[in-house]
Amino acid sequence: MTGREWTERYQGAVMNTFGVPQRVLVRGEGVYVWDADGTKYVDLLGGIAVNALGHAHPALLKAVSEQLGQLGHISNFFTSEPQIELGEKLLSLLGADGRVFFTNSGTEANEAAFKVTRKTGRTKIVAAEGSFHGRTMGALALTSKAAYREPFEPLPGNVVFVPYGDIAALTAAVDDETAAVILEPLQGEAGVIEPGDGYLQAARDATSAHGALLWLDEIQTGIGRTGAWFAHTAHGVMPDLVTVAKGLGGGIPIGACIALGDAATLLTPGNHGTTFGGNPVATAAALAVIETIEVEDLLENARAIGAQIRAGLEAHPLVVATSGDGLLIGVVLAKDVSADIQKAALEAGVILNNPTPGRLRLAPPLILTEAQAAAAVSTLLAVLDGVDA
Ligand SMILES: *Cc1c(COP(=O)(O)O)cnc(C)c1O
Repeated sequence: MTGREWTERYQGAVMNTFGVPQRVLVRGEGVYVWDADGTKYVDLLGGIAVNALGHAHPALLKAVSEQLGQLGHISNFFTSEPQIELGEKLLSLLGADGRVFFTNSGTEANEAAFKVTRKTGRTKIVAAEGSFHGRTMGALALTSKAAYREPFEPLPGNVVFVPYGDIAALTAAVDDETAAVILEPLQGEAGVIEPGDGYLQAARDATSAHGALLWLDEIQTGIGRTGAWFAHTAHGVMPDLVTVAKGLGGGIPIGACIALGDAATLLTPGNHGTTFGGNPVATAAALAVIETIEVEDLLENARAIGAQIRAGLEAHPLVVATSGDGLLIGVVLAKDVSADIQKAALEAGVILNNPTPGRLRLAPPLILTEAQAAAAVSTLLAVLDGVDA
């Protein structure tokens, strides 16, 4: 069956929330995927910062199949070894005492954290313009884009938005009524926007001064994506809440709300729950992802390959600047041709996306090699030439 035929069937069966799919993909291996018509692509988007180990990594395959063969699912009346080990591992990577609540997705991790903030006895949340925190009603209330929010109002209230990166505006918005400040260390969906020096520290200072929680949404930036386990470590701050998901399971759905220090005990028995969260297979997958990042030294690889890609693309006259850290890369274009470039790149066999007008985003697997990156960059430079002409 051809990609076109599959796409027609998709449109008759799957709800139209994502528009027409770009391709029907049938197979993946390493940093490559193949579509239903047999065309090969280098995947520089990695399922939107999810496929940290690329496609069909043997370590992930082994962890998931062994765990499924041993114990696939239990209820949260019980626990399992991988769940406990993953909780301990995440806390040790953060270097702090705390407690973890496991979920199946990013938005659910944020819902859990949102409930933690309500247990402070306060309801006001300060969030940033340009933010993306998810599509469920609570996370949506914290997401700034009007087009996402307005069809679903009323949403949970008492959320104040301030311009991202503006220290004075943030400091002024935080007061004794504030339950939490939620920020992304890099705004992913906005096109990989950097907060600027001192911003996260200012958020830490303001929240500490007013007894509010600092909540960092590391769903896109966490688990090695930026060349560190967490993007916020580069800013020298310790948050109260960290939410992770995307890269954590390397493609197996899992998220986590990690509460540190006093925030760790705000949720008490009966306050929250989930059927699938912390499932043995998902937690075993996440442990395999983290172990592989350690064993294959992928944090260092993310830094080196990220720098290589950015230097390569910055050489093109259409590229004004690049942004981000490690293998979360934003490309700022001189003209708003990001949609044309995304399409032309796909035709040329390179997957990336255009999160906002005038910007491209790359979030390739952390296993991307120097030679693979060099080949992809040279294809992209030719694509840029073609669009620029
Ligand atoms: C993707 C993302 C989410 C939502 O995660 P889902 O798994 O799609 O629900 C939340 N916050 C950030 C920063 C994200 O990038």
